Amino acid sequence: MPTRRYNNPKNSGYKKRDMLFVGERRIEVAQNIVKYKIKEGNNKGDVMSTKKIEKIPGKKPRPIEGKKSAAAVLRGVVDMVYNNAWQAKKRGELVGWSSSKFPIELAKAFDLNVVYPENHAATTAAKKDGLRLCQAAEDMGFDNDICGYARISLAYAAGEPTDARKMPQPDFLLCCNNICNCMTKWYENIARMHNIPLIMVDIPFSNTVEVPEEQVDYLVGQFEHAIKQLEELTGKKFKEEKFQAACDMANRTAAAWLKSCNYMGYKPSPLSGFDLFNHMADIVAARCEVEAAEGFELLAEEFEQSVKEGTSTWEYPEEHRILFEGIPCWPGLKPLYEPLKNNGVNVTSVVYAPAFGFQYGNIREMAAAYSKAPCSVCIETGVEWRETMAKQNGISGALVNYNRSCKPWSGAMPEIERRWKEDLGIPVVHFDGDQADERNFSTEQYNTRVQGLVEIMEERKQDKLAKGEEIYTNFDNTKETDWSKPTLEN
Ligand code: SF4
Repeated sequence: MPTRRYNNPKNSGYKKRDMLFVGERRIEVAQNIVKYKIKEGNNKGDVMSTKKIEKIPGKKPRPIEGKKSAAAVLRGVVDMVYNNAWQAKKRGELVGWSSSKFPIELAKAFDLNVVYPENHAATTAAKKDGLRLCQAAEDMGFDNDICGYARISLAYAAGEPTDARKMPQPDFLLCCNNICNCMTKWYENIARMHNIPLIMVDIPFSNTVEVPEEQVDYLVGQFEHAIKQLEELTGKKFKEEKFQAACDMANRTAAAWLKSCNYMGYKPSPLSGFDLFNHMADIVAARCEVEAAEGFELLAEEFEQSVKEGTSTWEYPEEHRILFEGIPCWPGLKPLYEPLKNNGVNVTSVVYAPAFGFQYGNIREMAAAYSKAPCSVCIETGVEWRETMAKQNGISGALVNYNRSCKPWSGAMPEIERRWKEDLGIPVVHFDGDQADERNFSTEQYNTRVQGLVEIMEERKQDKLAKGEEIYTNFDNTKETDWSKPTLEN
C-alpha cells in the first residue's frame, strides 16, 4: 500500500511534482495541469480546432433600447448579494451560509443576509483557484473523493485565503440535503469548525414520482421548527407578511428564469445553453431579490427581441443541437465550449439551469417543490424532465459530464442515458469531468468524445435529410416516457 502523500498548496508543491499518490491510485497531476493549461491557451494541433466555423455577420444580439444588457445587470446582482453580506458583517449583524436549495424564504422573513458556498466554490473554480483549495482541504484530512465544492468551502471556512471572490465567514448555517447528503457532513464540519448553529432541513430522496403527503407533513413540521430556531437565533418574531413577500419574489424570479430557459426551444435558438451557466449564480444566490427577478425579465425580453431580429448569443451556424448534461467544469468552460463552437454544435437543453426554477402556490406546494432537485428525484422523474425538455427543444444528441465530484448525479446517468437512446433514438456520449477539480478532466478525452458525437450526428442528419425526416427530437418522433417501469423493485 503506497504511503498517502498530500500536497501542501501553500508551497505550490503540485506544480513541481510529477506524481501524486492518493490512496492506491496514481494521478499524473502536474502533467495533466500543464496539458490543461496548454490546451486552453493554445489548442493548435488539437483535432477539434482544425475545423473552424466562422461567426455569422450581424448575428450579435443588442441590449434592449435604453437599458443595460441583462448579462451586465445580472452580474451586478450577484455582486450586490456579496456586498450586502459584507456590509451586514461590518454592522455587526449575523451572516449565514446556505446550501443552494435550502428554503431561503424562511430566512428572508427575518431579513437575514445569506451567501452560498456552492456558488462561491463555483466562482473560485472558474477563477482557477479551486484546485489549490481542494488540495488545502485534502491537507486538512478530507478525502479527495469528496465533492470539490465541499473541499473548496471547507478550506475557505478554515481560513485558506483566495484571490477569487471573498465572502464573510458564517455566523450560522442553513443546510438542506435535497441537493445531496454530502451537504450534511460538509455543513456539520463547518458548524464544528466555527462553533456556530446549524439549522438543518432534512428532505428525503423521492423514491416516487409524486411527493407523498406524509413527506409534505414531515417537511412542513421541519419548516415550523426552523422558524423557531431562526427566532432564537435572531431574537425576532417570524413575520408572515415578510415570508409571503419572499415567496412571491422567489416565484416571480423562477417564472422569469424558466421563461428565459424556454427560449432554447426556438430554431435557431436565440441563445446557447452555456449562457445559462453564466447566470446560475443569480438563480441560486438571489432568488428572493427583486433585482434578480428584474434581471431575468430583462433577459427574457432580450431573447424575445433576438427571435424577432434573427440574432443570437450563439453567433455561429446551428449545425447540430444537443443536450448537455450535468454541472459544467467551471475551470474549463473554454475547453468545453471550443470544440462545440468549432463544429456548429449548440447546446439547447440543460437540466441544471431550469432545475432551479421551481414555483409553488402555498406552503405545502413549497415543501413538494423543494423535494425536487436533480439528485433527489427517482430515475423516472429524472428521465421525464430531460426527455420532455429534449422533445420541446429539439436535439439530435447528448453530451454527458460524468462529474467526479457529484456522485449522486453521475451515478444515475448510465440508466438515464440508456433510456434516452431507447426513447429518443439519439446518440449519447460522455466524458470524465469535474465541476471544480481540474485533475479529473482531460481536454484530449473530451475533444475525442465530442468528435465522435459530431460524426454520428452528422451521418444521421444526412440520412434523415435524404429521407425528408425531422432531424431533431419532438413529441411525434419519440416515445412517451413509460411510467409503468418500476423505479424500485419490491
Ligand atoms: S455538486 Fe453534487 S455532490 Fe457536490 S454539493 Fe452539489 S449535489 Fe452535492
